[in-house]
Amino acid sequence: MIEQHTERSVVEAAPKQLFIAGAWVDAAAGATFDVLDPSTGEVLCAVADASPTDGTAALEAAAAAQPAFAVTPPRERADILTRAFHLMHERIDSLALLMTLEMGKPLAESRGEIAYAAEFLRHFAEEAVRINGGYQVAPNGNARFLVTRQPVGPSLLITPWNFPMAMGTRKVGPAIAAGCTSVIKPAPQTPLSMLALAAILHEAGVPDGAVNVVTTTRAGEVTAPMIRSGRARKLSFTGSTAVGRRLLEQCADQVMRTSMELGGNAAFIVFPDADLDAAVDGAVAAKMRNSGEACTAANRIYVHVDVIDEFAAKLARKMAALPVGRGVNDGVRVGPLIDAAARQKVQWLVEDALRCGAKVLTGGEVPDEPGYFYPPTVLTDVPETARMRHEEIFGPVAPLTAFTTEEEVLAAANDTEYGLVNYVYTNDLSRALRVAEALESGMVGVNQGVVSHPAAPFGGVKASGLGREGGPTGIDEFLETKYIGIAMA
Ligand code: NAP
Repeated sequence: MIEQHTERSVVEAAPKQLFIAGAWVDAAAGATFDVLDPSTGEVLCAVADASPTDGTAALEAAAAAQPAFAVTPPRERADILTRAFHLMHERIDSLALLMTLEMGKPLAESRGEIAYAAEFLRHFAEEAVRINGGYQVAPNGNARFLVTRQPVGPSLLITPWNFPMAMGTRKVGPAIAAGCTSVIKPAPQTPLSMLALAAILHEAGVPDGAVNVVTTTRAGEVTAPMIRSGRARKLSFTGSTAVGRRLLEQCADQVMRTSMELGGNAAFIVFPDADLDAAVDGAVAAKMRNSGEACTAANRIYVHVDVIDEFAAKLARKMAALPVGRGVNDGVRVGPLIDAAARQKVQWLVEDALRCGAKVLTGGEVPDEPGYFYPPTVLTDVPETARMRHEEIFGPVAPLTAFTTEEEVLAAANDTEYGLVNYVYTNDLSRALRVAEALESGMVGVNQGVVSHPAAPFGGVKASGLGREGGPTGIDEFLETKYIGIAMA
């Protein structure tokens, strides 16, 4: 158990103001909002609540810093990112505790996320110095084509609460590497991690105005004027598909570059030839990372009819054994959900599935205690008519359905507007490749329940998004290609 004073001291030391033009400032009207600990429902602290005026000031700072930042030597930008990477590792304990307090995930997962988040900074430090162009002889020989890459310009980065640090570094890392200045708007449930990241980037040498953070409860009011202004040239958004659609409409007016990391509805498919124990472990990983509050969470688990009973029994045993509690406590594997509304939605989806004929193997009851806890839950016989087949559960609920043929399960897996990730367990290599190619998603995990990796291109197809983050192409989202034609005398 972490001592109470340590929890308090971490929160007390965390920045709570807006970070604009390299300075910590209060919101214009002095407004603040409370940040809650979802494991107790109690207030942790108050942070600045930005108004549209503050948002505009942050964008002006980013726009003012853009010309100089665009021509910073790539090595300097790489060095900033590398220093920030090391600072994150030096402070991993306090950053992890801060994240657990505001978001709820167990400390071990928070530490994992800080390391994962830092890795994006190192990855993009290495990319910053490899932004290449080209030189080509025109086909008629009368000209030369010089191709260069330039920063897109001031970027608006909007992030969700479920991975408060990694969703930030996955955007600001490539933005800095490419030479783009930015305004970051984190989710109001988890502003402290992003403010802590801003402090680290500042200490690592980010020039004033190159990174700005506005925390606010008035997301639409603050960001819409930034998008309308035409001064922001890029929106990188991670969040729900519903909000992503609205933002795309706004961006259409300014023909703004966008990257959209949106919702998911992952299928997790277990064929009868799979290593069943490995598949159960993979399902626990794919379902329970972040208590199921992940866009990559296994949302529909399809198991071949010959092995579903054994799989279900093993999965239920493992899920029921996961210790639930405050994320700061030793041994806890499952923290609370983010807030009361999130837990209510999970409970509604479970009740709806039961009405449609599903059965509970474990869990399914909201505990009568403080905090927004929901127990690890396994449901079987979940029919396609259940709402949770089509919507993100975003909670620790594993819904199982039997299938018979490969064709049938592929059709079911693809019968969704989403296309972020799917998982396949089989020991037949041909089947693994055939199914992976036929699945309509940006990513597929074969015999593994976690696909996220800073060096791999993360992103979705269909309503799961546009563009890729991380990997060799992540930096492209923040670069424009310019061709310079040179006439030959
Ligand atoms: P959300 O409600 O869409 O919010 C995401 C962010 O957008 C928050 O900062 C939110 O602030 C802001 N926002 C909401 N409405 C806005 C508007 N009209 N204009 C500007 N900003 C606005 O999503 P969430 O509940 O925080 O996060 C969960 C969702 O994110 C899930 O659907 C999950 O699948 C998705 N996600 C996707 C990925 C991926 O890489 N594909 C990764 C993680 C999460 P407010 O809360 O103040 O409205």
